[in-house]
Amino acid sequence: MGSCAICPRTAADGVHACPVHAEELRAWLAELPYQARFLEEFIEPAGRPTAGRIGGTGRAHAPVPVDLRVLVLLGPGRLDAAPGSDDDGTPPILAVLGAWAGHIAYHYPAVGYDRYGTARSQPCEQAWPSYGETITGWCAWLTAYLPFALTLPLVADLHRQLGNLIHRIRDLTHAVPHRHPQAAPCPRCDAHALVAVDGQHGITCTACGNRLERDEYDQHAAAFLQTIQAEQEADPGGPAAA
Ligand SMILES: [Zn+2]
Ligand SMILES: [Zn+2]
Repeated sequence: MGSCAICPRTAADGVHACPVHAEELRAWLAELPYQARFLEEFIEPAGRPTAGRIGGTGRAHAPVPVDLRVLVLLGPGRLDAAPGSDDDGTPPILAVLGAWAGHIAYHYPAVGYDRYGTARSQPCEQAWPSYGETITGWCAWLTAYLPFALTLPLVADLHRQLGNLIHRIRDLTHAVPHRHPQAAPCPRCDAHALVAVDGQHGITCTACGNRLERDEYDQHAAAFLQTIQAEQEADPGGPAAA
């Protein structure tokens, strides 16, 4: 077993992120294109006439001020700093994603064959997102290469930078994935701390970091309910009936 580069939990062999953090990265990459669409909505209304201009007092309302941070986040641009360094303020989303794709592609061994038929491994020169160099395109690329990225120690930097980015965006859009507490306790630590988060496949324990697939949880919850019911039948006056 290895260890997670982000938290003290253990990770599978050859992987530098625990299941909770791997799932979080995957969920962020799925969330980013949606968040970017919310950000775009901040910009669009500014070009339309506001209600104040139509039959108002003759004085137009000031247009809704567009937060400069929104324009920067949605802007083009490149990261001057290498991925992993955090000396930038608010980097554009595209710049962060593109830089990370390039960084991961550089580590990805592209296997080519020389004229003698011998396999030669060399770094990929560039990442080519099949949906174009858009936020959606880069997120799809990064999701496809995530299993590989998890095998690199740099996954800790990827997690930190994507986390900073998504939290900055959520601060502006106020669109935060909902958390749904689950009824049955964690099968590993017994805490009532199992939570399902919109956009994430599994259910995680916020106390011990245990992660269950949804059907695993359903089986566990059904067994838990049966145990409770059996206890109540065996001892109808017991504390469970109170
Ligand atoms: Zn972790
Ligand atoms: Zn637990």
